[in-house]
Amino acid sequence: MTPSRAHPSLAQRQPNRSKKPAPRRQAFLLGIRRPQLEIVSLGVALFEIQIDLDGNAGRTTQDVADFSRSLLTELPSLTEHKCWSGDTGGFVQELHLGTDFAHVVEHVILELQHLADPKHRIYSGWTKCSPEERTQENRRYYTIHFQTRSFEIGATAAECAVRIVSDLIEGSAPATQDALEELRQLPW
Ligand SMILES: [Zn+2]
Repeated sequence: MTPSRAHPSLAQRQPNRSKKPAPRRQAFLLGIRRPQLEIVSLGVALFEIQIDLDGNAGRTTQDVADFSRSLLTELPSLTEHKCWSGDTGGFVQELHLGTDFAHVVEHVILELQHLADPKHRIYSGWTKCSPEERTQENRRYYTIHFQTRSFEIGATAAECAVRIVSDLIEGSAPATQDALEELRQLPW
């Protein structure tokens, strides 16, 4: 493995979202910290982000009315995700049982990449609670690792996924098609 390289923070390269009317919040409900890309081999890279659930720490998909239904309406192909169970529909089961929003962000990242990739490759990822948080009742910081094609694609997919999940938590309509279009413009 080649060593990780440092990259500018996502906050610095945050694009201006002029399309949407004045947002009620400046920052994501779920913040991204410390993005890193590790090149595993030619064409495969592992991206790492940390998610700060902040006010959503300790909440699950069961705690936000209509969240799961709205998410599956936005990205119906999430029903294919296996997740822990290893069976198709495993992630939907997790949604209905109640899973944390960092885990949801991970699956949205993977699906956005899959849909935007001209070759529709399948991407893998995993989410874990940051070690220092494991003993706390309300888990706030999570680390997500996922396969991607480049730092730009990984960072864009992560930003879009966080925005989509944040919008759904707030009960507003996410710009999922715009996110896919943005990702499709990148070099794959
Ligand atoms: Zn999962």
